[in-house]
Amino acid sequence: MRNKMITLCPTSYELAQKMPNFSAWVRQRLLIEQPTGLVNRPDREILHRKCDSFVLASWKPLIDGTFAWVGDCECGDLVTWREN
Ligand SMILES: [Zn+2]
Repeated sequence: MRNKMITLCPTSYELAQKMPNFSAWVRQRLLIEQPTGLVNRPDREILHRKCDSFVLASWKPLIDGTFAWVGDCECGDLVTWREN
C-alpha cells in the first residue's frame, strides 16, 4: 500500500470521519469507477482448458468491480482469467 494525500471540504470531511474504513472505500470506488483505459493491460492469449484452444482476451472490468482478461472463445464460452 502507498499513501496519497487528499483534500476534503468540511462536509466531505465529516462524512469521511464517520466511516469505519475510508481508505478501503476510496480504493473500492476507484477500482469500480476508473475510466476505461486508465489502467490498461495489454491483450493476452489465454488457454481455454475446456476446449483446449487459445483465446485473445482483453483487460475488462467485471460486474463486481474487479478487472480480468475476458475473451470470447470459438466454442462459444466467455473465458475470464486473472492473476492470483
Ligand atoms: Zn473454448
